[in-house]
Amino acid sequence: MDKFIFAEIPDKEVDIDYYKAVEEFMIHGPCGIERPKSPCMVNKRCSKHFLKKFVDVSTWDDDGYPIYKRRDNGKTVEKNGVQLDSRYVVPYNRYLLLKYKAHINVEWCNQYRSIKYLFKYVNKGNDMVTAEFYKSTTDERSNEVVDEINMYYYCRYVSAYFQYVVFEDDDCIENVLNRSTVNQSMFTAWFDSNKKYDFAKELPYIDMPTKFVWKKDIREWHPRQRGFAIGQIFYVPPGSGEIYYLRCLLNVVRGPTNFEDIKSYKGVIYPTFRDACYARGLLDDDKEYIDAINEASHWSTAQSMWKLYGVVLHERALAVDLLLPL
Ligand SMILES: [Zn+2]
Repeated sequence: MDKFIFAEIPDKEVDIDYYKAVEEFMIHGPCGIERPKSPCMVNKRCSKHFLKKFVDVSTWDDDGYPIYKRRDNGKTVEKNGVQLDSRYVVPYNRYLLLKYKAHINVEWCNQYRSIKYLFKYVNKGNDMVTAEFYKSTTDERSNEVVDEINMYYYCRYVSAYFQYVVFEDDDCIENVLNRSTVNQSMFTAWFDSNKKYDFAKELPYIDMPTKFVWKKDIREWHPRQRGFAIGQIFYVPPGSGEIYYLRCLLNVVRGPTNFEDIKSYKGVIYPTFRDACYARGLLDDDKEYIDAINEASHWSTAQSMWKLYGVVLHERALAVDLLLPL
């Protein structure tokens, strides 16, 4: 940490440029009792937690947050008539500070949470989770032990969910599987609403929330009494095969009561969703592929964009019976 990040005022005599850069860009304050009107002051305290403590060596606190070395070496800078010491230094990297001569706060973020955060988004593929929850554990003598850590899970699932089944750990698995709602997803309930309501048949799946509300408890679509909502279908990359073509069809097909209906067009039931897409002319002008590339361009990395382009070429070649090697 000390090699990259500093939180001290450098020696003026040794390197005046360096000293001046820290003085100009990396000093917080003045704030605190002397400057209660400073923008960082919230409820009479500095919201950025300055001033920090003097410490002789860098360490980490119990939560893994860094505590940077700030030695009490008598060095100060003057800001608006107040002498400030290293306790007011915003952590910086010397090289970046001198190269860009700008306020660049550099922090040590080697906590598992930040790693998880960074890599999740960079390498994000299709989401999938298998989760288990246990009520309690027992020790060697079969005494029940309440293990609060084991009982508490810090979980987050960032995605649209598709179909989930929730059950208690002592539920009989047969009863769970026989629950009528297990087979009923928001998507398959759409088929039922198309049987029940004529005006549901006018809507493609994506537009269901404009005229219907999803009743979570009974897992049914009911006509919307008031308001308006915008629907969203989760992203499916073009390389996913049939599921991608199904998603394309969901933007246009109206009123199906089963999967066969989605594959049908002008009285013909096509063997695959892809064939149905072609029959409907959805892919003739490459629009779906262009949309897929546009959509991914908002969040995808360059490398996965290349890959996506390759997949699109491959899919396109399959469509005209020209198979390119990937
Ligand atoms: Zn402050």
